[in-house]
Amino acid sequence: MKKEKVALLGSTGSIGTQALDIIEFHAERFEVFALSAHSNWKLLAQQARKFRPEYVVITLDEHYKELKEALSGSDIKVMSGAHQLPVVATHPVVDVVLNSLVGFAGFESTYESLLAGKKVALANKESLVVGGSLISEIDPIVKGKLIPVDSEHSAMLQSLVGEESENIEKIVITASGGPFRSFSKEQLSNVSVEQALKHPNWDMGAKITIDSSTMMNKGLEIIEAKWLFDLPVEKIEPVIHPQSIIHSMVTFVDGSTKAQLGPPNMKVPIIYALSYPGRMDLQVERMDWSQKQQMDFHPVDFDRFPCIKLAIDSVKMGGAAPAVLNASNEVAVDRFLNKEIGYIDIAKIVENSLKHVEFNSALSVETLKEIDKEAREYASAL
Ligand code: NDP
Ligand code: MG
Repeated sequence: MKKEKVALLGSTGSIGTQALDIIEFHAERFEVFALSAHSNWKLLAQQARKFRPEYVVITLDEHYKELKEALSGSDIKVMSGAHQLPVVATHPVVDVVLNSLVGFAGFESTYESLLAGKKVALANKESLVVGGSLISEIDPIVKGKLIPVDSEHSAMLQSLVGEESENIEKIVITASGGPFRSFSKEQLSNVSVEQALKHPNWDMGAKITIDSSTMMNKGLEIIEAKWLFDLPVEKIEPVIHPQSIIHSMVTFVDGSTKAQLGPPNMKVPIIYALSYPGRMDLQVERMDWSQKQQMDFHPVDFDRFPCIKLAIDSVKMGGAAPAVLNASNEVAVDRFLNKEIGYIDIAKIVENSLKHVEFNSALSVETLKEIDKEAREYASAL
């Protein structure tokens, strides 16, 4: 059988490195066509020497020389600049694009890959948050090639296999609640960077770890689910489930609910996206149902975690408001990580940006880029 050629964007990140483990384990089915990193050229060079892709892309131009030297003597083509990501992703021989870039930087590769008819395994949820309405205008058959890697959306997809979308009553999206689930407002105002970077159940990149702690991540995921499954946000109900065993559920019109369960491990949704609609074996921990298990569920407190509400509101505001939400959140998270602002300022910056940045222009890739830029400038100056 011909191997599937994978363009793995963001190969040096948390999702990217786990995806490479899977590709290595299933070398009979996959081979790497392209890899990319932003600044971590050393790891990218190591990965390239091991997986022998045709192309590597380093998006920060300043590391091009070092990477080129590190790969000298090999026949791997080295490219630099963000504009090269959609170029390698849409190369005619690519079968699957696994987009594990972080932030708005991932949008164009998702969009262009879909337009080029590629199967896209999508970890980069920001693609759908910002550009969901543009992506939804793409031919539905092409859109069907967009497979989520996010664990909740993978659970939704798995629960929806064999179902008609008109029979969905609601989707219940689970959230661990993050490290500050039981913090008071007062405690939240004193959260440090170090505390926020420790997630109880998942080991992830810095941006999504902060987003999980503020619950912005759940807000982004509600928007992601809306576009993936073509549902109004009112039909997507967030629920706190601290154990992260149920990854999400779908309730149907007859009152039946389907869920997907397992110990929290991102390799499961990554391999599902790669093997969909089939499955492939994966050696990870299984649930031990012979042991006593506890599963708790609590309502979300929108007052202590305003980011999730801001995300839902941005969809209701319409236009490119979710792009403003996303850009201002990316800036605010960066500023918090750099210790320029306090923890609760993240939500304030997003709220303020949504009030002041204009988002009503007609949507196109160009206008989204402009709105993203304006929102970043506004949020950086606050
Ligand atoms: P990481 O920060 O660990 O990795 C991000 C990857 O993208 C790295 O390869 C990084 O390169 C590269 N990158 C960073 N900034 C840019 C940029 N401006 N332009 C181009 N490339 C860039 O992130 P994660 O793997 O945690 O997350 C990736 C995506 O997957 C996010 O959208 C996240 O929300 C989503 N996701 C992640 C989960 C997880 O468990 N980690 C779970 C569910 C979804 P370099 O290493 O050089 O910085
Ligand atoms: Mg998730």
